[in-house]
Amino acid sequence: MKNFAQVVRHQGNDSLFEIIDISILGTMASMPVHFHAEGFRGTGKTTIIRAAKQILPKIERIKGCEYNCDPQRPHCPHHRHLSAIEIEKLGVELIDMPFLEISPSAKKGTIVGSIDLKKITSKDNPEAALLLGTIPRAHRGIIFVDEINRIADISPEIADILLDVMGTKPGRIQIEEVGLPTVVLPIQASVWAASNPDEEPGPLEDIRRQLSDRFDFAVKVERPMEIAVLKRILDGNSESSFDNKLIEVKKDKFEQTKKKISEVILSEEIKSILASVYVDFGLESLRSIEAITRGAIIKGALMEKSPDIEDIVFLAKCALRHRIDSKNLNDIIKYLEQRRHHIEKKQESLINMAIVESEKESPQQSKKNTIGDSGLLQNRFLNPIEKLLSYLTKKSSASPGDSRITIDPKKIDIKAPSKKAQSIKQLELKDYVKKEEELRK
Ligand SMILES: [Zn+2]
Repeated sequence: MKNFAQVVRHQGNDSLFEIIDISILGTMASMPVHFHAEGFRGTGKTTIIRAAKQILPKIERIKGCEYNCDPQRPHCPHHRHLSAIEIEKLGVELIDMPFLEISPSAKKGTIVGSIDLKKITSKDNPEAALLLGTIPRAHRGIIFVDEINRIADISPEIADILLDVMGTKPGRIQIEEVGLPTVVLPIQASVWAASNPDEEPGPLEDIRRQLSDRFDFAVKVERPMEIAVLKRILDGNSESSFDNKLIEVKKDKFEQTKKKISEVILSEEIKSILASVYVDFGLESLRSIEAITRGAIIKGALMEKSPDIEDIVFLAKCALRHRIDSKNLNDIIKYLEQRRHHIEKKQESLINMAIVESEKESPQQSKKNTIGDSGLLQNRFLNPIEKLLSYLTKKSSASPGDSRITIDPKKIDIKAPSKKAQSIKQLELKDYVKKEEELRK
């Protein structure tokens, strides 16, 4: 497996990196994010996905629980009825966030679960027990399905199971075995999938539209086109050329930003833009809008600022490209770009207004009338414009007696030099080269 720090990020695979980060943080915060990476053979999509296993953070589970029970919210048949004190007695442990793969040759029993033959045939203590499959063991982690289009084509029953896992948040799985009671488990895992839409049997949306729609995001992965990137990829193959610190930095970032998700607020403007995309463009599936909203909140936490219209444009492309035709997608992106332009204009005039207003106001007045009162200062995630506004406000209230915080260029007293400037070529040598003794005078 390639080292994550070795994988070169470029324009053609940048969206995949970004969506991976969003999905990992979402998984940590019990908000699974399913994505599907599509691209030709050799674009490195599976390499990137498998390498991302190294940046997965740790999760805490009840000690030894194969179902990865969260000590705060135990869900498995052994632990779900236990009290907090009983769970405390069992103890907790940190494990790597699960990352399990489902291959095109997988069978239903191996991915869901089956009778544990070892236990049932034990001479000393025969016991009817379940051997957990890939999906229940991936609870609170990642399930990677390579060649999902082939699976949907040749194993419709596995596609049905995936539909259940991805259908609701959390999803569910039913484990049935003759002679054993049926076990229904909630499953909270992010499904990552990859496929080449140009190879048999074709794009997933043509084979199983319902399954394609379950993916919050679909990203296109393309080959690098720049020579410099190719050079970096070739250079990166030598062991010494990558920095392992990057992996630790990524893991820390997820740990630090996990709690910040609850602090991210979507602005009313963004919410109304999303509502209008849904209504005005007649979107069939509400899932796309939910995906953009969830993605924006997680992205906001990762960036430690309020998501803006640019983030919405990126997420809308990923959330819609597998759900609507390209004409409709282009129209929506065009509409979002127009809104972006409109917002930028509005923000520009807002800044100008803030500058003019702050010049007029006395410090007491501006204190009363700050954006802090509208709650923006309480929000730790300010976008650059909000940051600027809050900076301006703070500055005006922090300097009593001087309410001026910026200087209007028109009000600056500019004195012109006494003589008009002359080009150096027009001067005599003696006019611009002075001897030492002349300077001393
Ligand atoms: Zn458990």
